[in-house]
Amino acid sequence: MEEADITLQPGSPFAMIGAHTDSPCLRVKPVSKKQSEGFIQLGVETYGGGLWHTWFDRDLSLAGRVMVRDASGKHQQKLVKIDRPILRIPTLAIHLDRQETFSFNKETQLFPIAGLASAELNRKGRLGDEQDSSTKADSFSPIAEPRERHHPHLVELIAKEASVSAEDVLDFELILYDTQRSCIGGIREELMFSPRLDNLCMSFCSTKGLIDSVTASDSLENESCIRLISLFDHEEIGSNTAQGADSNVLPTIIRRLSLLGPTDATSTAYEQSLAASFLVSADMAHSVNPNYAAKYEPDHKPEMNKGTVIKINANARYATNSPGIVLIQEAARRAQVPLQLFVVRNDSSCGSTIGPMLSAAIGTRTLDLGNAQLSMHSIRETGGVYDVDYATKLFSSFFTHYSDLSQNIVVD
Ligand SMILES: [Zn+2]
Repeated sequence: MEEADITLQPGSPFAMIGAHTDSPCLRVKPVSKKQSEGFIQLGVETYGGGLWHTWFDRDLSLAGRVMVRDASGKHQQKLVKIDRPILRIPTLAIHLDRQETFSFNKETQLFPIAGLASAELNRKGRLGDEQDSSTKADSFSPIAEPRERHHPHLVELIAKEASVSAEDVLDFELILYDTQRSCIGGIREELMFSPRLDNLCMSFCSTKGLIDSVTASDSLENESCIRLISLFDHEEIGSNTAQGADSNVLPTIIRRLSLLGPTDATSTAYEQSLAASFLVSADMAHSVNPNYAAKYEPDHKPEMNKGTVIKINANARYATNSPGIVLIQEAARRAQVPLQLFVVRNDSSCGSTIGPMLSAAIGTRTLDLGNAQLSMHSIRETGGVYDVDYATKLFSSFFTHYSDLSQNIVVD
């Protein structure tokens, strides 16, 4: 790629896309060791608003981060993924439960089994010996060791994945996931069946759109704005965390980038940047479900593979407004991407996104959009294959053309 002639200045506008990376899931509790009726079980905590009944009878495993002690005695974080099914939440046979509707208790029945206790008993002798020796070596531990709080087998598995010994596993944050891989589906291969489309699909499309926009020839020629994507954690639990969208992360990054180097305290570059910028809040939308069509507003029923969905709400559950629609429509026109419009029924509850909270925090014009999908928050969701390409092209076009388009939309 040849060096482009970029004309950035302090206070330059930002073309931004924000999305989130987290999804509802089950997380291993701090003390997870349980045993009942001959089964080893694992205590788990719900994260976010999952469709928890879909987690029953799936082949589950664990992934996440582990804090370990390395060879030099330093504590460090390692990412692990156990790549085989080790857990399962069993349903009750229909012969034993004739109820028409499936209901369950989230504390006592959403409770994975991890194997049989007989294997654990054989193990105990060996681990007991190890624990004795380690207890003698380490005189004081403020909280019980991971090997006491969790099943020793589990800690050993995690240790193996992290390439350390079990006694060097200090703590972990592990979540459950479905080991079934994503796949293409539908008679004409027009659908995709996958976990976590909400919102890894939009995270992927925004990342790919950004890369495509900067690798296209002469795309950065005379560019006067900064292209940025921000992918947040913790949207499913309200975003009010250190790395969530309701934190200071994005404003401080924009501030530093808007100054383009050291400047004096009276600079208004940050405020100028915010006033001239635009944020696309990209989060998945609801496709019409043919079995529940009455749940949708009759004139706003998004369909799969018919293009990216602009989300609108009079009560600002979404941040979209008319100037934003006009702008994104122009970006879509240049990329030949169809768009759809969505509002919820007045008698329905409405989801929300990081769009309204970010626009309120930074005062930048914002628009909410996303691809249509079915079964949002299920362990296995359904999306449209062609919509991935549409959203990627739309985002690339938005980045490529924002500095030009923004000058042609006058609202004051
Ligand atoms: Zn989402």
